[in-house]
Amino acid sequence: MEEQAGKKKVVVLGGGVAGSLVAKSLQFHAQVTLIDPKEYFEITWASLRSMVEPSFAERSVINHRDYLINGNIITSNAVDVTETEVLTADGHRIAFDYLVIATGHADYVPINRRERLDQFKDANKKIKSANSIMIIGGGPTGVELAAEIAVDFPDKKVIIVHKGPRLLDFVGPKAAEKTLKWLESKKVVVKLEQSIDLDELTEGQKRYRTSNGEFVEADCYFLCSGKPLGSAWLEETMMKHDLDDDGRIKVDERLRVNGRTNIFAIGDITDIPELKQGFAAQQHAEVVVKNLKVIIDGGRECSQCRMETYKPQFVMAIVSLGRREAVAQLPLLTIIGRVPGFLKSGDLFVGRTRKQMGLHPDIVHD
Ligand SMILES: Cc1cc2nc3c(=O)[nH]c(=O)nc-3n(C[C@H](O)[C@H](O)[C@H](O)COP(=O)(O)OP(=O)(O)OC[C@H]3O[C@@H](n4cnc5c(N)ncnc54)[C@H](O)[C@@H]3O)c2cc1C
Repeated sequence: MEEQAGKKKVVVLGGGVAGSLVAKSLQFHAQVTLIDPKEYFEITWASLRSMVEPSFAERSVINHRDYLINGNIITSNAVDVTETEVLTADGHRIAFDYLVIATGHADYVPINRRERLDQFKDANKKIKSANSIMIIGGGPTGVELAAEIAVDFPDKKVIIVHKGPRLLDFVGPKAAEKTLKWLESKKVVVKLEQSIDLDELTEGQKRYRTSNGEFVEADCYFLCSGKPLGSAWLEETMMKHDLDDDGRIKVDERLRVNGRTNIFAIGDITDIPELKQGFAAQQHAEVVVKNLKVIIDGGRECSQCRMETYKPQFVMAIVSLGRREAVAQLPLLTIIGRVPGFLKSGDLFVGRTRKQMGLHPDIVHD
């Protein structure tokens, strides 16, 4: 590992939306080490478009080295933490002055960018070769995937099986109702309050029994259920008491882990009472970058008063519905159609996110 004399050591755990932005933003201010089990940062909200159009992923799957040109990268999982060190699964012991935990959700994706791009190509082949497709889960991921397929491949039959009483249960019922009508207008079949036994699923099965005894016929399926939080590894560490009952890290308003002065936590892993979304994770990252700059420049104690605080976001979300439309949940309003679609659904904020990471919005160097 490279040493940069005199600079404070900042270790960032997790190269997702929040952690990558912190690492990129502090790389010339501190000696930064990013620890992530994969070699790339992925703009998650582009992943469903990438399944219907695999070349879309060329811009949204970004090698860490492309934006982190002045930092150390360790491709491994963090498995233990002390007051001053992190231990990784591959045996590295990394000392820190400041630690930022951003291990959001654990995902089982390839280590290498090329292999991740190939996964999208495989998903695309699977969609193209099927006449009927079952989507398990009617949250934002399942709804966005169903809409992408319905818009790009209108002749394919799409069936969503969702165990809850309505789609998109993270936003209000009006948004869910409007989305259901939109999907049905595209001939998507939605089966609510039914589930599929995941233990009995096999690829190529073609006929699936739902929890209430109905059968769904489909040439293939996609599982769009939630991913586990990336905090299980902390349960056996000195930070086990910093977790709430759901496994989220308890943070104060400056986004430090409660009661700790040199460990911050940001993104989906935190107990901040708001919707867990990428744009909130980016805001957390910006607050922590400012606070770490204040601390590093001014010393930990004297800088307390100049540190920024974070206010939880209002309930606000945009779920894209194919290439032109979307449904938006705003604090006092729900809108569906081209207006919210204009904001999100064309480029899915990929160009904007790339710029935020210091990269050209369109040009990708292999
Ligand atoms: C399909 C999909 C679509 C979405 N669409 C939107 C959207 O349209 N708008 C929006 O605002 N949000 C959206 N989200 C939510 C958004 O992606 C998350 O809120 C955001 O990714 C949270 O960022 P994070 O950095 O906290 O966690 P993540 O992005 O989950 O990153 C966590 C990182 O930590 C790594 N990690 C895990 N465990 C360890 C460990 N032990 N050691 C080291 N590294 C570890 C993971 O590999 C990963 O790189 C979507 C999510 C998904 C899955």
